[in-house]
Amino acid sequence: MKPISYGRQFISPEDLQAVVETLQSDFLTQGPMVKAFEEAFARYVDAQYAVAVTNGTDALHLCTLALGVKPGQKVITTPITFVASANAVLYQGGSVDFVDIDPLSYTIDLDKLESKLDSAPQGTYSGVIPVDFAGYPVDVERLRQMAKRHNLWILEDACHAPGGYFTDSNGTAQKCGNGAYADLHIFSFHPVKHIATGEGGMVTTNDKALYDKLKLLSSHGITKSPELLTENHGGWYYEMQDLGYNYRLSDINCALGLSQLKRADWGLARRQQIAERYQKAFEGQPGIILPFVSKNVHHAYHLFVIQTEQRKELYDYLRAHQIFAQVHYIPVHLQPYYKTLGWKKGDFPISEAYYDKALSLPMYPTLSNEEQDYVIDKVKEFISK
Ligand SMILES: *Cc1c(COP(=O)(O)O)cnc(C)c1O
Repeated sequence: MKPISYGRQFISPEDLQAVVETLQSDFLTQGPMVKAFEEAFARYVDAQYAVAVTNGTDALHLCTLALGVKPGQKVITTPITFVASANAVLYQGGSVDFVDIDPLSYTIDLDKLESKLDSAPQGTYSGVIPVDFAGYPVDVERLRQMAKRHNLWILEDACHAPGGYFTDSNGTAQKCGNGAYADLHIFSFHPVKHIATGEGGMVTTNDKALYDKLKLLSSHGITKSPELLTENHGGWYYEMQDLGYNYRLSDINCALGLSQLKRADWGLARRQQIAERYQKAFEGQPGIILPFVSKNVHHAYHLFVIQTEQRKELYDYLRAHQIFAQVHYIPVHLQPYYKTLGWKKGDFPISEAYYDKALSLPMYPTLSNEEQDYVIDKVKEFISK
């Protein structure tokens, strides 16, 4: 059995062809593949607008920039996420606050968030960054009601959840990234994510003004649109109207992403099958806590996280058998850098207890049944020792 990682990309012959065609075309960047990928991705998540960017982290930063995060502002996120979700606030000089996770969904606890918001003076917080952790869609409908009362923006980190959705109170399926309840959504195309472009990311929104801002700020704050120019000296003329960055994704990456997107439904269905097989295999197994899935949620399974008391021993045991499970995530507030900002152990007990037991088992569309059975056998072997 060859080594099995917790996640990995799948590059098809069609993907290779798409990349080669772009390499042989006139545009390696700022060409037609960018727009094609943006439009196809927007359609995939049911959003009106999408902006392709260099990676998920830059997608987050571009959003906090466009939302006008600045020193003195406070933004809330979850401790159980990749550090980038929180760092995006710090990049802009804002401060990060956390709300503990819900022990079942492992996403931000909306009851706790509500009481935190209700007990703080109006205006204390500027926005919230919920994370669809492991692929579990956050109830952004409920979050929007809180956001309205407290005048917050919502930036959904949907890196784990392209294709996932929850059913809202009207019985309508609301896809992660669709712009219905959140102001902005971001995705990553790192190779372990659902769609791989090497490095890559996307922002989606239904807000035209925010979309225009994202576009401008993702390319130096420079525009060439005649209707936006304050002067016009001729065909060469452009204006830098705001301080932006170069967060553009190349046509090479976009061609790969567009090709990968064609298999997204297949990949998601495969992830769900793999999750079902794990659920069946470990159901009733003492010592293992399995992921919870509510009836109104279509889980996107970026990760399949189990919890067990002997997490470190199981991790080492699997490693010794060439199975490279992972831990997602070390709570952000316990990272040394965040500790220097005043956070400490004990601040978010549910997240910390989760972290002590969590282990992500291999989960990716090309994991074969045979490989998965090997993983299942090794986990069971360890548990029964
Ligand atoms: C992967 C990821 C990011 C960052 O994406 P990059 O493309 O690696 O910069 C941000 N948030 C979450 C939840 C992620 O999983």
